[in-house]
Amino acid sequence: MKAAVVNGFQQKLEVKEVEVPQAGYGQVLVRVKTCGVCHTDLHAAQGDWPVKPKLPLIPGHEGVGVVEKLGEGVTSLKVGDRVGIPWLFSACGECDYCLTGWETLCQHQLNGGYSADGAYAQYCVAPAAYVARIPDELSDVDAAPILCAGVTTYKALKVANIKPGDWVAIYGIGGLGHVALQYAKAMGYNVVAVDIHPEKLELAKELGADVTVNGSETDPIQAIQEQVGGVHAAISVAVTKKAFEQAYKSVRRGGSVVVVGLPNADLPIPIFDTVLNGVTVKGSIVGTRKDMQEALDFAARGKVKAIIETQPLEKINEVFERMEKGQINGRVVLTLD
Ligand code: NAD
Ligand code: ZN
Ligand code: ZN
Repeated sequence: MKAAVVNGFQQKLEVKEVEVPQAGYGQVLVRVKTCGVCHTDLHAAQGDWPVKPKLPLIPGHEGVGVVEKLGEGVTSLKVGDRVGIPWLFSACGECDYCLTGWETLCQHQLNGGYSADGAYAQYCVAPAAYVARIPDELSDVDAAPILCAGVTTYKALKVANIKPGDWVAIYGIGGLGHVALQYAKAMGYNVVAVDIHPEKLELAKELGADVTVNGSETDPIQAIQEQVGGVHAAISVAVTKKAFEQAYKSVRRGGSVVVVGLPNADLPIPIFDTVLNGVTVKGSIVGTRKDMQEALDFAARGKVKAIIETQPLEKINEVFERMEKGQINGRVVLTLD
């Protein structure tokens, strides 16, 4: 089969023939149709984070495909079912986190396209218990970005713990952010969209942002404090430290900052302001299988629709180059056929 492979960090991916993997016990073999390109895949290929991925690695955790073969012991899926390969590739199912609806925090989890091979390939194997079921209403292309960008931002909005009519700022209107904005509107929030590229703010306006701020021209902290008196929650899905510092300073008293983007940087937090203003700072990592069902349901009902550019797998290195420069508006979805 054809696959895009990371052989070493900071190197171009190699698109080459590799062996089709075998579905082990409890796993299914999936014929991949599409896979979204998440900035996490770029972090993986560059070895950006303290915890490194396996090497060689086939990235990809927004994979959509069809079950081609069932491994031993699989009863919950049949050949021909449409499934998604997510970041939460597997978890232990037995620890405190797994038992309390926090399987995303399981210490024994594997991650698709990071610690396990993912969907930048014509085939991939995944545990039947953790693949997503793709609703019939969604095409293979439209479903892909929901599998990470969708579920992640939907969950981040849930943990922000705000109510309809409240203000939320989204820092970074990229693959995650342009979907975050749509979930936020669908959930009844007012949205401030912040990015540093004008075309992303144009997109944000088209998608219903109530206020847009170009952080390279205007100070978003000041703009947000002046125009809406500070937001109830700020979600940073940007890839630069500065956006997180600004997100922190954008919230009103009692507000929450949800940290989602993953630049390899620190976020220094002033103790005095955090205490006196009662600010909550929270990390949020993807979502559970239940969050995934809910996130897909928003998309199936047409409330959220990613803006998508399709590219063949062979173009992955060019896609990464554009992603690094912030030149992708919406999400790129790779096609494998
Ligand atoms: P992306 O490249 O599509 O989008 C990043 C956006 O941030 C771009 O639009 C860019 O212009 C914008 N940006 C850069 N600097 C900015 C600034 N100073 N202010 C405002 N906006 C700024 O990336 P993506 O795929 O959306 O992923 C974003 C980040 O989220 C990555 O670090 C990725 O690893 C991380 N991520 C986290 C989770 C999680 O579960 N926590 C899940 C998926 C992705
Ligand atoms: Zn992702
Ligand atoms: Zn567990």
